[in-house]
Amino acid sequence: MEKTAYTLIANIGQVKKNSLCKSPMNGDPMFDQAINKFMNEAITLSEKNLEMMHGGPFGAVVVKDGRIIGRGYNRVILTNDPTAHAEIIAIRDACNNLKSFLLEGCDIYSSCEPCPMCLGAIYWSRPRKLFYGATRHDAELIGFDDYFFYQEMEKSEERRVIKTVRIMRDEALKVFQEWEKIPWKPVY
Ligand SMILES: [Zn+2]
Repeated sequence: MEKTAYTLIANIGQVKKNSLCKSPMNGDPMFDQAINKFMNEAITLSEKNLEMMHGGPFGAVVVKDGRIIGRGYNRVILTNDPTAHAEIIAIRDACNNLKSFLLEGCDIYSSCEPCPMCLGAIYWSRPRKLFYGATRHDAELIGFDDYFFYQEMEKSEERRVIKTVRIMRDEALKVFQEWEKIPWKPVY
């Protein structure tokens, strides 16, 4: 399962430029035009890595009130950060611009179906809607593990590749109990 940067770069070389542009439309020309504009920007961001190789070919934008307020493209290789996915970076950018940890009323456009980590981040940021272009299966075809991770999520802990063991629950729960007592705690 481990991938080297060399393998990743070799895989990126196989991307066919127009294969990412197919997305489901609802038939309304105005709606479709708006979707294309933002998805095009997400795809344009994904193309950066065809030259820069800062990471995989993935891009994302966050949109609020018809305006892009957050942008991101994959920077895993550049930053040695396995969490530096396009969606995460776009969410951080948008939240920083909004000065909020919530993306209420926002839409997220991603050039590819989000991996489980990014989907989790999207849920935590509570946007209104998610649009994506390529699928987890398309990503698998160019060497990325999104589909495999989705399969792992569906397994019980004992059957996952990464051994997962629960220990010291009582000690951890004591902090939860203290948290529960704080009257002014934020809710998210
Ligand atoms: Zn991701």
